[in-house]
Amino acid sequence: QEPEESDLNELIEATLELAAPALRGKLDVHKEYDRPLPGILCFPGEISNVILNLLLNALHAVEEVYRAGGSYPGTLRIHTSTTDQGMVRCSFRDSGPGIAENLREKVFEPFFTTKETGKGTGLGLSIARDVVTRRHGGALYITPGPITTFVMELPRAAL
Ligand code: ADP
Ligand code: MG
Repeated sequence: QEPEESDLNELIEATLELAAPALRGKLDVHKEYDRPLPGILCFPGEISNVILNLLLNALHAVEEVYRAGGSYPGTLRIHTSTTDQGMVRCSFRDSGPGIAENLREKVFEPFFTTKETGKGTGLGLSIARDVVTRRHGGALYITPGPITTFVMELPRAAL
């Protein structure tokens, strides 16, 4: 399998289409795409899986707010941009309950989950980080601050 030059905006769009039935009525997605984005050299199926994990985690986060007495739909803001360091960046900011500061690195550990037994494997983010960092030379992290924002950065394809 060879990496392919891909457009991150298109990968996000395709993955959103895949997830749409699950998100409908629960999670409103606001998109702000930088266009055109430089291409990324990636394994598209693997990056799509990472995006799907972030989308489903955001869905679970707004479901938690709902269970605590909040209302649907929650919101997810997706931004794409290019960094000064030549990386292509996307961020996912949700209206969920947030992640306590002391857990912001822990959530990337294998088997860390706050979901009920049987509902989550706790593997999603650890695999996602592996795919993004080791397999693609990128980064996956949570930004500081009270609102949950996951950021994925991927190196742009050589010109
Ligand atoms: P799982 O979804 O199976 O629990 P993950 O590795 O995807 O495993 O996530 C690990 C944990 O990180 C979740 O159980 C949850 O506590 C926390 N988490 C992940 N994404 C979010 C989010 N968007 N908002 C709040 N908590 C989150
Ligand atoms: Mg998950």
